[in-house]
Amino acid sequence: MKRILVTGGAGFIGSHLCERLLNEGNDVICLDNYFTGSKDNIRHLIGNDHFELVRHDVTKPYTAEVDEIYNLACPASPIHYQYDPVKTIQTCVIGSMNMLGLAKLVRAKILQASTSEVYGDPNIHPQIEGYWGNVNPIGIRSCYDEGKRCAETLFMDYHRQNNIRIKIVRIFNTYGSRMSMNDGRVVSNFIVQALRGEDITIYGDGQQTRSFQYVDDLVEGMIRMMNTGDEFTGPVNIGNPGEFTMLELANKVIELTDSKSRIVFQPLPQDDPRQRKPDISLANRELNGWRPEVKLEEGLKRTIDYFKKLV
Ligand code: NAD
Ligand code: UDP
Repeated sequence: MKRILVTGGAGFIGSHLCERLLNEGNDVICLDNYFTGSKDNIRHLIGNDHFELVRHDVTKPYTAEVDEIYNLACPASPIHYQYDPVKTIQTCVIGSMNMLGLAKLVRAKILQASTSEVYGDPNIHPQIEGYWGNVNPIGIRSCYDEGKRCAETLFMDYHRQNNIRIKIVRIFNTYGSRMSMNDGRVVSNFIVQALRGEDITIYGDGQQTRSFQYVDDLVEGMIRMMNTGDEFTGPVNIGNPGEFTMLELANKVIELTDSKSRIVFQPLPQDDPRQRKPDISLANRELNGWRPEVKLEEGLKRTIDYFKKLV
């Protein structure tokens, strides 16, 4: 049995990760300040002897005897990370330093939840880990993109300078149950709008692409990454290479919900990436043949079932 700290554990991805780590027989500490996460996401775990909940902000130091740390604490949707951009950078940078300091102190292995946003609006397609990205350092997305890039730098420097055992995963757009209904991300927006019969809001002409990964596939990839040998630090892309335009996604959601909603077009937010698709050959090679198992249609059906209970 390992003692594992999950920061951001009450969020969308963190709650699935906590659940899976507990099911595998580990002791889990879930640390969260509930900025975008919620106790509702982990309520079913409260009362489990192997689960502890800590209300804490990662920008403040935290100490616990743990074997592994998954660092997920950070708002992930554009609406939420742009709400208080300075705090977003603090969470990315100071939060990462605090967790790396803890890893150093207790000799824990630490995994960083990085993002495909480090590639910015990419000029190469699909994105490979060796691509350095095309990121605007002064735009409205920069607090998140540059914050996450700086966090990766910190992870690599703690590794080189202090021999900390690190793992970096670059997560591509992920969806599934427990996404927050009002955080503005495209999958939750479209499903909720379709279920309510409201207009489906496409930003821009809908020709921009994203590659959507179901949360279970991501959690599997993160755990496999944590369990790789110390010499493999990543970064490694974890995502589903199936690439769709937002117009295709909207039509798929309308079809699966049998909705009467109309599609409407609204202005494209500043610096919105035009295309995104992971090259996952490194993950496939290093993570015991890992590849996503859940196709978009199947994952959407499961997510629609979840939102139907809420809407
Ligand atoms: P989320 O907003 O549901 O979860 C983030 C969690 O972190 C929330 O529970 C929030 O309350 C907590 N948090 C935020 N700031 C904190 C702070 N200062 N101290 C302690 N807790 C704090 O988002 P998510 O989609 O579950 O994302 C989890 C991680 O994965 C994030 O680091 C995000 O950047 C990364 N990621 C997610 C995606 C995606 O598509 N969902 C893609 C790339 C990367
Ligand atoms: N998007 C959209 N309608 C919405 C929400 C988002 O067309 O109601 C678009 C958004 O402009 C972007 C894509 O969907 O091009 C994915 O947005 P999301 O915020 O989910 O993720 P990210 O842009 O961070 O990849």
